[in-house]
Amino acid sequence: MSQKTTGKHVIIAGAGAAGLTAAIFAAGAGAKVTLLERTNKAGKKILMSGGTRCNVLPVVATLDDYHTSSSKNLLKRIFKTWSVDGCKQWFTDDIGLKLACENESNKWFPESNSAKEVRDLMLQKAEKLGVRVVYDAAIDRLEQKGDGGWVVNTKDAGRFEGDAVIIATGGLSVPTIGTDGMGHVVMHQLGHKAGPVYPALTPLTGDYQPHKDLSGLSLNVQVDVYSGDKKTTEANRSGFLFTHKGYSGPAVLDVSHFRHPEYVNISADKNHITSYLINWDGADREEWDKRLIGKGNVAGVLANFLPRRLAELIAKEAGLEGRKVAEIKKNERKKLLKLLTAYPLPVSGDEGYRKAEVTGGGVPLDEINTATMESRKYPGLFLCGEIMDVFGRIGGFNFYWAWVSGRLAGLKAGGE
Ligand SMILES: Cc1cc2nc3c(=O)[nH]c(=O)nc-3n(C[C@H](O)[C@H](O)[C@H](O)COP(=O)(O)OP(=O)(O)OC[C@H]3O[C@@H](n4cnc5c(N)ncnc54)[C@H](O)[C@@H]3O)c2cc1C
Repeated sequence: MSQKTTGKHVIIAGAGAAGLTAAIFAAGAGAKVTLLERTNKAGKKILMSGGTRCNVLPVVATLDDYHTSSSKNLLKRIFKTWSVDGCKQWFTDDIGLKLACENESNKWFPESNSAKEVRDLMLQKAEKLGVRVVYDAAIDRLEQKGDGGWVVNTKDAGRFEGDAVIIATGGLSVPTIGTDGMGHVVMHQLGHKAGPVYPALTPLTGDYQPHKDLSGLSLNVQVDVYSGDKKTTEANRSGFLFTHKGYSGPAVLDVSHFRHPEYVNISADKNHITSYLINWDGADREEWDKRLIGKGNVAGVLANFLPRRLAELIAKEAGLEGRKVAEIKKNERKKLLKLLTAYPLPVSGDEGYRKAEVTGGGVPLDEINTATMESRKYPGLFLCGEIMDVFGRIGGFNFYWAWVSGRLAGLKAGGE
């Protein structure tokens, strides 16, 4: 990165994944950078990410891995500015973070498995480039000056004046650690749309006691989402966990938003009620039909392919508790095959922002210039990260969005 000075002062709100990246690139482009953070620590979500291991990046990312109600073409333009490989190289060469690939999941983690290392190295890089980090500085209002510059007002840390502002305040998920949606309020004050928003990648809840009795049981499944009879999404097979409140694991988190009214309202299928159907072990009806032979009892045969407690529950729900496979009647077989390949998950709700890994919805992409991340309404105002109407599935896709959008905003806000 160049050490030239552009003479610009860039103020960034939010020292999370996107804000730290923006700060590093704005400072690297030669700007004076002030990074305002609402809490007393930078990168709290980085610290808690990936079960404190931080899934920094996916190995491959495509547009299908992301959700936005804006045009996917706009999203494509932003991602085109930095490939996964380019971003990975920046982490290793510029940030000094050694990464290791988890082959079975196609994810990059720090070799140290330490999310703290990721946060610390990014913060050190920013500080080395001269970024001034101000903690306990919650922005609550922006004013554009007559000369095109900005005044950023904070609750308790006074006001800051700069040539450009980057809003990187994140979403509304896990509000207890600092992300309470204030950035959305500020954008709204300025006349930008900042919604609708909804919790995404959050566990689902259910009241069905036999499932609660399976709490702690985990397996790989495919959870398909249906609108009426129509399958709306091609789900990946991944981890599923019965919890004491309902259902979790990547297979569930990846599809939780489909039932959310705010998502349903903006999606094409707004008139349909969605349901979740599970294929437990990947086998289709024909395959199960072949498996269901011999002299054994039904639960015993199912337990050759599924965890025993689940096998027993499915046999019971099919009305085949204690029965032999050879005794199954045609209509009973049909019901059993459905429960094995398209099991309706009795979902009653979700765990909301409290447990959501990200926020769905936000500032629409058509309200910014996708070549710069600059507001189309206000020159000198830039946005990046989770505040935008973009989120990805589990697997490093959300950090990739934060790094890409943060870099672009930082470069363009800080450059000449
Ligand atoms: C438990 C958990 C695990 C996750 N694991 C992964 C993972 O392994 N891989 C992955 O890709 N994604 C993961 N994510 C998602 C990822 O953390 C987010 O997508 C990412 O942090 C978004 O980056 P951001 O900078 O936009 O927002 P954030 O990282 O949330 O940063 C926003 C920052 O702005 C600050 N702020 C908020 N309001 C104000 C204000 N008014 N003034 C000043 N500062 C303010 C906040 O305190 C915060 O520091 C995880 C999320 C959670 C909750």
